[in-house]
Amino acid sequence: MDLASSVQFVKGIGPRKAEELAACGIRTVEDLLFHLPMRYEDRTQLVRIADLRPGMKVAVTGTITVAGLRRARRVSIYEVRIDDETGRLKALWFNQPFLKESLARGARVTLFGEVAPDSYGGRQLMMSSPQHEVLDEEAAAVHTGRVVPVYEKLGPLTGKMLRRILTGLAPAAAAAPETLPEDVRAALGVIGRGEALRRVHVPDEADALDALNAFRSPGHFRLILEELFLFQVGLALKHEARRERPKRTAFAVNESAREAVKRILPFRLTEAQKRVLREIAADLQCPHPMNRLVQGDVGSGKTVVALLAMVVVLENGAQAAFMAPTEILAEQHFLTLRRLLARCAYQVEIFTSATKGAERARAAERLASGETHIAVGTHALIQEGVKFHRLGLAVVDEQHRFGVLQRDELRRKGLDVDVLVMTATPIPRTLALTAYGDLDVSLLDERPPGRTPIVTRHRPASDRRAIVETVRDAVANRRQAYIVYPLVEESEKLEDVRAATSMAAEWAQALPEVRIGLLHGRMKSAEKDAVMAAFHRGEIDVLVSTTVVEVGVDVPNATLMVIEHAERFGLSQLHQLRGRVGRGAAASSCLLVTHGHLSAEARARIDTIVRTEDGFAIAEKDLELRGPGDFFGTRQSGLPLLRVADLMRDRDLLEDARREAFALVRRGAEGTASLRGLLGEEGWERRFGLARVG
Ligand code: ADP
Ligand code: MG
Repeated sequence: MDLASSVQFVKGIGPRKAEELAACGIRTVEDLLFHLPMRYEDRTQLVRIADLRPGMKVAVTGTITVAGLRRARRVSIYEVRIDDETGRLKALWFNQPFLKESLARGARVTLFGEVAPDSYGGRQLMMSSPQHEVLDEEAAAVHTGRVVPVYEKLGPLTGKMLRRILTGLAPAAAAAPETLPEDVRAALGVIGRGEALRRVHVPDEADALDALNAFRSPGHFRLILEELFLFQVGLALKHEARRERPKRTAFAVNESAREAVKRILPFRLTEAQKRVLREIAADLQCPHPMNRLVQGDVGSGKTVVALLAMVVVLENGAQAAFMAPTEILAEQHFLTLRRLLARCAYQVEIFTSATKGAERARAAERLASGETHIAVGTHALIQEGVKFHRLGLAVVDEQHRFGVLQRDELRRKGLDVDVLVMTATPIPRTLALTAYGDLDVSLLDERPPGRTPIVTRHRPASDRRAIVETVRDAVANRRQAYIVYPLVEESEKLEDVRAATSMAAEWAQALPEVRIGLLHGRMKSAEKDAVMAAFHRGEIDVLVSTTVVEVGVDVPNATLMVIEHAERFGLSQLHQLRGRVGRGAAASSCLLVTHGHLSAEARARIDTIVRTEDGFAIAEKDLELRGPGDFFGTRQSGLPLLRVADLMRDRDLLEDARREAFALVRRGAEGTASLRGLLGEEGWERRFGLARVG
């Protein structure tokens, strides 16, 4: 029996169960060994029932002396009493009448759960729906008298069957060959693979219960680091491979480029902007394609950085593409670029869904001939086969939803060009190291000068009068305001639109002297443009809007952001929305208006936004509240499928794994050859579920 053996031949499994296991992705002994216990129980020292106290979370063992099934209206309650020599404990389960078969009178059982006072009686204690396990003869060796692993059910195998099977596989586990090169093992400070695989299932005496349950025993440590390390080796190889690919031309950052940049700049760059630009310039000059992520909080001035990078490329006779996640943003970028480039000879053109027919054909023609220098658009720009004369740089204003897939698309189109990805929502480092782990990262961690902090307050909707007054005051001071309702732009439902429309009417009634505009995702582009342009020019005081204003919209005179139903927004969305104000020198404020009772999570989100403006702190909190899978909101976010590691729990280990992985790849091919073998035929992309992700 070795790691590659089929589970079918494992004692206690057989062909039928093997088939069911295959459906859960478990085919080999190795697959099975990577089904780690969810927790461990110390059964060397049983807690006596007499010593139980409310609030303890423990395992107790005893004999069932009373058992009975009760039915009350729609629920059934199965109740037992267990006794040991010291006392008695009640336990009950709801709607699990079948338990009467296995948990019958006379059975010896172990229950694990939280101890609570019995709601009925005196000083009695009880457990509600505890995990349970019946102890039989074989129990002695496998299931008691030691620190025992507790498994989650896997296909046809119960937790208890798994304990027996995996304890039996300990010798096979221990014989697993080492896979990490010796120097890597030493550098990571981990025990051997075989020993690790055995100890997570059959812990040594030296393995402390706390460490086991925290997934930090030496065995866990080894398996987690191995997985993260291999994953990072994959990213490092990918990073390296790209550096070996030549791009068509390396761009020169020469005098003419410098002159052009100076001419265009409307203000002095911040130190962070200068640093990031230097990093980009180095990439542009390098003979390999750039793949750089610029992380900068809202308002940190990413647009101008992108513009200057584009100018260098244009000065070298190539073209640039600038892609935004929404049409409104694409249009805004288009206007900004055109304004800033007004005194240059560069032609900027926008491609949106509104450009159609002959007009579009002519625009496409100008781009293909090189007459147009910068093409601005949404991701449709690359999807719809628009042809460039000589594309040199693609800027992707990612804003967190313009994903990895689009980046990949560029590459699949054979456009091995320099790629600059900009994200407005700071990404916690853990995720940056995974989802974007093959990119070079630049940080814009400084705001342009002269900004005052945004004052953020939470207001219940019942404070309507005060809210209206705040808006009135802002307008009286010749400032502008946004009032945002929670809708999702692309899928805006009619009723949502109606809500925003009727709210606009209500506001118009409340503030008759104020010029109110309405913006929502169902409007035609031309209408949206007209409204945005009017707001820009100050002809609209208050913009009642759906979340289409979320990303990137830049109107410095707008100093008040009112977010209605703030409880329905995610943290990063709230942060983005608030970032629409505080863009000029004037003091800005943000009102988070909530309706009705707040869930604990909604309250945590609101409190976070009120407390801090630091996008990284907010992103960390977001990750904590939602977990890595939901952080990006899509499955295609580029997060790896991990067997033992957990991105949240193991974030500290990720850094070590990454450092060693990149060091190994940098040292050269010998070390990595054996690792490629280790990842098997499927290779690391399949293994980590990243095959489709660039
Ligand atoms: P974001 O990083 O959110 O995309 P923008 O690029 O839209 O930010 O910049 C926000 C605002 O700050 C814009 O009005 C821009 O013109 C201004 N800005 C950017 N850099 C500077 C700077 N160095 N000095 C002064 N204002 C700046
Ligand atoms: Mg922006």
